[in-house]
Amino acid sequence: MNEKLILRMREIVGRDNVLAEPEDLAVYSYDGTFEEHRPDVVVLPQTTQQVSKLIMLASDENIPVVPRGMASGLAASSVPFTGGIALSMTRMNQILEIDKLNSVARVEAGIVTVDLQSAVEKQDLFYPPDPSSIRHSTIGGNIACNAGGPRCLKYGVTGDYVLGLTLVLADGRVLKTGGKSIKDVAGYDLNSLFTGSEGTLGVITEAILKLISKPKFTQTALAEFSLLDDSAKAVNAILAQGILPATLELMDETAISCIEEAMHLGLPLDVESLLLIETDGADDLSVKREMALATSICREFGAREVKIAQTEGERAKLWKARRSVSPSLARKAPNKLGEDITVPRSAIPEAIRNLKDISTRYELPIVIFGHAGDGNLHPNILFDKRDPVQWEKVNQIVAEEFKLALRLGGTLTGEHGIGTLKRPFLREALGDVSIDIQRLIKSALDPKNILNPGKVIQD
Ligand SMILES: Cc1cc2nc3c(=O)[nH]c(=O)nc-3n(C[C@H](O)[C@H](O)[C@H](O)COP(=O)(O)OP(=O)(O)OC[C@H]3O[C@@H](n4cnc5c(N)ncnc54)[C@H](O)[C@@H]3O)c2cc1C
Repeated sequence: MNEKLILRMREIVGRDNVLAEPEDLAVYSYDGTFEEHRPDVVVLPQTTQQVSKLIMLASDENIPVVPRGMASGLAASSVPFTGGIALSMTRMNQILEIDKLNSVARVEAGIVTVDLQSAVEKQDLFYPPDPSSIRHSTIGGNIACNAGGPRCLKYGVTGDYVLGLTLVLADGRVLKTGGKSIKDVAGYDLNSLFTGSEGTLGVITEAILKLISKPKFTQTALAEFSLLDDSAKAVNAILAQGILPATLELMDETAISCIEEAMHLGLPLDVESLLLIETDGADDLSVKREMALATSICREFGAREVKIAQTEGERAKLWKARRSVSPSLARKAPNKLGEDITVPRSAIPEAIRNLKDISTRYELPIVIFGHAGDGNLHPNILFDKRDPVQWEKVNQIVAEEFKLALRLGGTLTGEHGIGTLKRPFLREALGDVSIDIQRLIKSALDPKNILNPGKVIQD
């Protein structure tokens, strides 16, 4: 990028907040996938006004702007394939207000998710969305991807907690949506439009988030199943009984062995699957009653053992296991491709059977884990990208996984978003009319196509 433009950016955000050395550009060139491309410059703004001025400059000069949180995304949506500005929001990381009376928090977009959660929990409040990347993702990134997580079965996804946003549009104007009111139907629902828009429609600089009371009691259990199919059936049976656990997470045998190899937590290695179940609420007795019912259903469906955590340490260990799945897979193969398909939960057993069949046919391991309670599975293909035969197989497997999800009435992604990796399949999932409308929205809000170009919708 030419020196004059870099100088103008430095005038807007300050000298230290513009990085253009090759080693800095390398750091901002990737996300949680294996994709990589360097930006021309990295800018780290500290105020909404700075973002606004910077985007005005980018718009005048036709420079692509790729917003970026902690780059933990799994769809390559923050990789700056077109070069331009990597706009890192991580220096806008303040909690501006925790309003206990209204149960809302007002935060800057770059705050790390776990920092917000810890701060509100100190005040007996609760921010439920809990992507497994809570320590490595920002609220802005969570909103931009409409992130979910293990607790979303009971509590809903990030978008269910967005009450208001401050955004900078593609021409630099600042837009405020919503507010602290719980009920608000004035005009189109712009909070929902920008939530999940993956940085293609506006840059989120602040958010007003709904909080709830912190659940006082929790029970956590691990159910061991000799047969994966039985655990999938148990998930449906638990929910059909009217029990709504906060969490119903499934891990298959490969996931279990990867975690064990990496963490040595004492997980059983002779089972096909584990279910992590958590119930929570304000009343100890009903939390225990729900867990007792869930565990007896697991036994009825073939669980050989169900262990309820007796101490906070035991509970932490179970969660450590679940949160380690994704990182531990890295030890098994040089590369992994984690998908994020969703199916109606009644179709989970069939989805799992089909995924196992795909894995056998292509002779590549597919690790299955995920939020089984809401039908959101993360089949992770383990492979070596340097081997062209394996890479070709991976592409075919991905296409089969998406076809499977659509055939079972589901969709391509429950929480990771489209980015570029799932973009080729979007038309098939949504249909021509929906794609046309989405294109119209994009071109109305970003006619010069400078905000995260090429993501979600093909140019
Ligand atoms: C180990 C691991 C576990 C994960 N587990 C989960 C999980 O359980 N649930 C889940 O939903 N996801 C999960 N993810 C994926 C990822 O963490 C989420 O998508 C997360 O929301 C991304 O946040 P981020 O701050 O890292 O955003 P980035 O990866 O930096 O960006 C993601 C997208 O958001 C856009 N963006 C970022 N900030 C802004 C902003 N301020 N304004 C506008 N656009 C913005 C970017 O342009 C990009 O399109 C996981 C990832 C990893 C590596």
